[in-house]
Amino acid sequence: MSQNTEDMFAGSQSRNFMGHPIGLSICFLTEMWERFSYYGMRTILILYLTKYHLFDVEDASMIYGAYAGLVYMMPIIGGYMADRYLGSRKAVTYGAILLVMGHALMAFHGQAAYIAGDVVMRDETAINIFFLALSLIICGVGFLKANISTVVGALYGPNDPRRDGGFSIFYMGINLGSFFSMIIVGYVGETYGWNYGFSIAGIGMFFGLLVFLWGQKFLDGRAEPPEPKILKEKSPIGVSKENTIYLFGIFLIMLSWVMMQYDQMVIQLVGISGIIMIGLVLFYSVTKCEKVDRERLWVAIFLIAIQSVFWALFEQQAASLTLLADQQFNLSFLGMNILASQVQTMNALFIIMFAPVMAWLWLALAKRKIEPSTPAKFGYSLLIIGAGYVIFAWGMGLDDSTSKSFLWLIFIYFMLTLAELFLSPVGLSMVTKLSVPKIVGMMMGTWFLFTALGNNVAGWISSLMGSEEVGAVSGTLDMTSTMDLYYLIGYVSAGVGIFILILTPLLRKGMHGVH
Ligand code: GLN
Repeated sequence: MSQNTEDMFAGSQSRNFMGHPIGLSICFLTEMWERFSYYGMRTILILYLTKYHLFDVEDASMIYGAYAGLVYMMPIIGGYMADRYLGSRKAVTYGAILLVMGHALMAFHGQAAYIAGDVVMRDETAINIFFLALSLIICGVGFLKANISTVVGALYGPNDPRRDGGFSIFYMGINLGSFFSMIIVGYVGETYGWNYGFSIAGIGMFFGLLVFLWGQKFLDGRAEPPEPKILKEKSPIGVSKENTIYLFGIFLIMLSWVMMQYDQMVIQLVGISGIIMIGLVLFYSVTKCEKVDRERLWVAIFLIAIQSVFWALFEQQAASLTLLADQQFNLSFLGMNILASQVQTMNALFIIMFAPVMAWLWLALAKRKIEPSTPAKFGYSLLIIGAGYVIFAWGMGLDDSTSKSFLWLIFIYFMLTLAELFLSPVGLSMVTKLSVPKIVGMMMGTWFLFTALGNNVAGWISSLMGSEEVGAVSGTLDMTSTMDLYYLIGYVSAGVGIFILILTPLLRKGMHGVH
């Protein structure tokens, strides 16, 4: 067998999954169920906070932002632990167990808040348990999300041409899981009770755990700890190093629990970590790299930092956009009565529909040698999402009733998804292409850190849209500030997009031949 053929089939066994290593089906199903639980829970989160615990828009959005920020920050630690000690298989298993526990805990949520005079009385114990549940999910995602993607990568030999296709199939699993969960959990949560919705998300994750425990034998031993011996050694606290890491996970849960109580501090935590990471990468580039690698790293870190602008707009979905859908739109469409929590489904649906079209488009443009470069795609992405918000805000201004046309929601979700396809998969591949192999893990972690920053800022932006109402109407958006903010973030994003397009020739120079 030639080296190439060997590489090509290095991951395959006698059994295949759509022409790919059988292990891909295990990763596909595990991540499908994990995203089922993640997006299912998230789709009803803001409605649950405003309608059950009667938080106002500001507090509910800040809680959402803190959660979403921490959830995307934690994979850096989970990824590091897996690379250095645990290996992906054990890390994913641990993450899945934490996730099942977190989602199970979400099913209990105590007493609904009520108004006494003009004071909101909340079940503080229930809210604390709810924060603990979120912290378990934050750490569960931290140990699972990045590592399950690493397992997918590890199933292929270095030159296996099926790798990109494998990741596309995997991305379909993500969106299939989120599509069905947002329909089912949204329906059950809004119709029968929030805790039933959360329970369904939890049951989904339980299936994910079972699939992974059963199917890990199909991973060809490619997700094992780098040095199993080290894990058995005793750590200074007297237990094995493996158990020490699990205990450290519990420490991280407690830390997240504290951070959830001080949600306004998450932005500092993520922001300062981001600045430190930029500093570290710049230091590494100056002290350890030749010109070509150094300039590539500069371009990478610039694009990594800029993508936070995208997520800040994109992740309005589970915050202000869901509240808007609930309060301002006519949700009957083509004979269907859609629930506010189900509107987010459109993102997953559009991804499933358009991801293959975009993949085809990039190839077709590449054949004609007119495929936009990565920085240009980032510029277009920010321009598309920015224009989306500006036009959406304008459209909402045309109709001041609370029964605005559903077509506007279709429009904004289409623009969000189009922009996502210009940036999210492109960005991940850019990180692997522009980094020096030695620090690719760190660069990927930095990518997620700035995704985290964007998510956190999304919550903060949404928090600025609330009205002064209390009680049952506490979650009401103030339409003037909502539209003003949508115009503002739209113009800022479009402006940054144009700025990147102007810089593109310079950035391409710094990429030294990488597209
Ligand atoms: N929707 C994708 C997922 O959940 C990408 C999310 C992200 O990178 N922020 O995996």
